[in-house]
Amino acid sequence: MGDSRFQAFLLKYAEIGVKGKNRHIFEEALEKQVKIHLHRTGADFEVSRINGRIYCEASGNFDQDTVIAELKTIFGVVGICPVTIVGDKSIEGIKEAAVKFIGENYDDKGFTFKVDTRRADKSYPLTSMEVDADVGEALLDAYPEMKVDVHKPSVWLHVELRERVFMYSKIIKGAGGLPLGTNGRALLLLSGGFDSPVAGYMVSRRGVYMDAVYFNAPPYTSDRAKQKVIDLAKVLSRYTGPINLHIINFTDIQMAIYEKCPHDELTIIMRRYMMKIAEHIARGTKDCFGLITGESIGQVASQTMKSLFTTDEAADYPVYRPLIGFDKQEIIDKSEEIGTADISILPYEDCCTIFVAKHPVTKPNLNIIKNSEARLSGVIEELIKKAIETDEVITVSKDH
Ligand code: ATP
Ligand code: MG
Repeated sequence: MGDSRFQAFLLKYAEIGVKGKNRHIFEEALEKQVKIHLHRTGADFEVSRINGRIYCEASGNFDQDTVIAELKTIFGVVGICPVTIVGDKSIEGIKEAAVKFIGENYDDKGFTFKVDTRRADKSYPLTSMEVDADVGEALLDAYPEMKVDVHKPSVWLHVELRERVFMYSKIIKGAGGLPLGTNGRALLLLSGGFDSPVAGYMVSRRGVYMDAVYFNAPPYTSDRAKQKVIDLAKVLSRYTGPINLHIINFTDIQMAIYEKCPHDELTIIMRRYMMKIAEHIARGTKDCFGLITGESIGQVASQTMKSLFTTDEAADYPVYRPLIGFDKQEIIDKSEEIGTADISILPYEDCCTIFVAKHPVTKPNLNIIKNSEARLSGVIEELIKKAIETDEVITVSKDH
C-alpha cells in the first residue's frame, strides 16, 4: 500500500507539444529547467519525460508546499499534478488506495467524479474500463455522498497503470508560457515601480532569458532605491534564472539635461538617453535581441502614443512593451501574483520622479525634442561614454 503523501509530480505542458520538429528542443529545455528548480528546493527528485509529460519522483522526504511553489515558477509548465504512487498493483490494492486517496484529499465528499484509467502497461490483466468500474464502485461504497458524472465531473480521478500505478486528481495551474532558453535573451529597463518588473516577467515567460539595466541618480536617489531594484530583480530571477543587473550612474546626464533643456521636456529626453545606453548594453550582450520597458498607452504623459513615438526613435533596437494594452490595476494584480508588488509599493524614488516637471509635454514633437537635445551636443557624447564606464554589473539570482 502506497504512502498517503504525494511522492511525485506529473507536469503538463501544452504549447510545446505542438511545435513539430522543434519539439525535442522545447522538451529538453523544459526538463533542464525542472531539474534546476527542483535542485533549489534541496529535495532529491528523479526527473524523466514520459508521453508528453514530465514526471518527477522524490527519493526522499520533501516539503510539499515548497516544491509546489517552486514548480509554479517554471515557464512552460501548464499544470502540476501531485501524484500518489500505489505500491500494490493488484486491483484490490488500487481500490484501497483510491478510497484512501479520496479520504485524505477531500474533506467534503459531496462531489461528482469520474475515474479515468490509462493502461500504459499493456500486460495489466484488466482493461482500463474494468479498472474504471471497479474503482468507481469501491469509491461509491466507501463514500455514498459521491456521485458519478461521466460527462462533466468536478473531480477526475486519474489512474495510470505503468510499472507502478500513479494516482492523481488535482491539477494546479502552472506559470504557462515557454521554457527558458528557447528564445534568446532581452534587456529589461528595470525601475522601481510596478510596471517594469511585470513587463520583464511577461517577456521572459515566452522563453526569454533576461538581463536588466537600472539608471541610478545618486545622491538624488538613495541606496534604498537601488536596493529596491536589486530586490525586484531577485524576485524576477525565481522565474527568469540569473539576471545580470547593470547599474548605470545617470546623474551627470540628468543634470546636463536639467540645465540645458526645457523642463517640460526633461522626462522624454531622459528616457531617450536611457534607450540609447540600454541599446549599447544590449548590443554588447550575447544573444540579446530586444529591449523591454513597462509602458502602457496613456498611463502618464511620457506614455502617450506621441511620447512613445518620440522615445522609440532614440534607439534602433526592437523595444518590447508587453503591458501596452493593460490598465494599471491589471498590472498591479499581475505584480501581486508574481510576487513583485510588495517591493514595488515601497516609496523610494527612482531618478525620474525627482526630476519630473509639473506639466510635462504630453505631445512631444520629435523635431523640437531633437533641437533641445542639440543644446547638449559636444557634452553629451562624453557624458554617455562616462555613464557607460560606471556600469556596475550585479548578478542577481534566487540562490544568492
Ligand atoms: P515603472 O512602474 O516600471 O517604474 P513607470 O510607470 O514609472 O514605470 P515611467 O517612469 O514612465 O513609467 O517609465 C517607463 C519605463 O521606462 C519603465 O517601465 C522602465 O522600463 C523604464 N524606466 C524608467 N525609469 C527607469 C530607470 N531609472 N531605470 C531603468 N529603467 C527605467
Ligand atoms: Mg517608474
